[in-house]
Amino acid sequence: MTLALRVDNLRKSYPNIMAVDDISFDVERGEIFALLGPNGAGKSTSIEVFEGFLPRDSGTVEVLGVDPGDRQHLPWLRERIGVVLQELAVESFFTVRQVLERNAGFYPHPRNIDEVIEMVGLTEKRDAKVKKLSGGQQRRLDIGLGIVGNPELLFLDEPTTGLDPAARRTTWDLIRLLSSQGTTVLMSSHYMDEVEALAHRVAVLSHGRIAAQGSTASLGGRDKGEATIRFTLPPNVAVADLPVTPSRVDGNVIELRTADDLTTLHRLISWAIEGNVAIEGLTVARETLEDIYLALTRDDRDGSEARAR
Ligand code: ADP
Repeated sequence: MTLALRVDNLRKSYPNIMAVDDISFDVERGEIFALLGPNGAGKSTSIEVFEGFLPRDSGTVEVLGVDPGDRQHLPWLRERIGVVLQELAVESFFTVRQVLERNAGFYPHPRNIDEVIEMVGLTEKRDAKVKKLSGGQQRRLDIGLGIVGNPELLFLDEPTTGLDPAARRTTWDLIRLLSSQGTTVLMSSHYMDEVEALAHRVAVLSHGRIAAQGSTASLGGRDKGEATIRFTLPPNVAVADLPVTPSRVDGNVIELRTADDLTTLHRLISWAIEGNVAIEGLTVARETLEDIYLALTRDDRDGSEARAR
């Protein structure tokens, strides 16, 4: 079995709202897959169906090969999935170690508690009461609680919201480590840099439908679109001397838009080296994941236009 998650034509409605409207995608084992979309797009509803917390209206869902909508599979599934929600209610009077130990007891093959504490960077706080932890430390404890059962598939809802930049990077390293150990990760995030850094593939939800899906690098054709080359010309060189026609000139800052960035760069750099022209600040940029995401979800900025049925 190579698929951790198979979703075919999934639909889920609430009274008056089609929250998830015929979505299909697969997540392979070991993959980090990001489910993106504005608030109200249908991410949480979908994830709750995958976790077996919500029944679906129609469609096929297989999580680790079984139907999470079938009650008889739920105990088996619960032992093999980890869930990190945005808010986790843990008893704030217990210590970090105590809550992890208690949760580990629910699983047949839990991770070593001290290893988990170290993985989430809470070694110095292991005996601290949960209520004494900072927001970021509580978030890391949430993640610890999600992985203590050594899950095959981990659902991570906005794993780094509220973390400072250093803690975000540590969390990214942890997610990469889990993935390299074979854990499949289905995550949601509003940070496109995070998605770019972590996810192998993404699906963008908008109004309960999939607006686009694919590898993070190629979503929306951004690997094939035009590139923008930018650089600064030294004062003694005229724009007319350039071997290529600029798309935009702003003082001595030159911008070239091209579908063939390698050829354009080759001409530009050969010309600069041969003529001893010291061009500065050379960059080549394509559309960012955020550009693509914003274009795909333009009409669904806050999900306020509910899908009335
Ligand atoms: P997201 O996680 O992408 O923010 P949700 O899955 O939470 O989106 O919500 C999708 C849509 O379903 C929204 O329009 C939301 O208001 C609606 N919705 C979510 N939960 C419920 C519920 N329990 N009852 C009624 N409507 C809901």
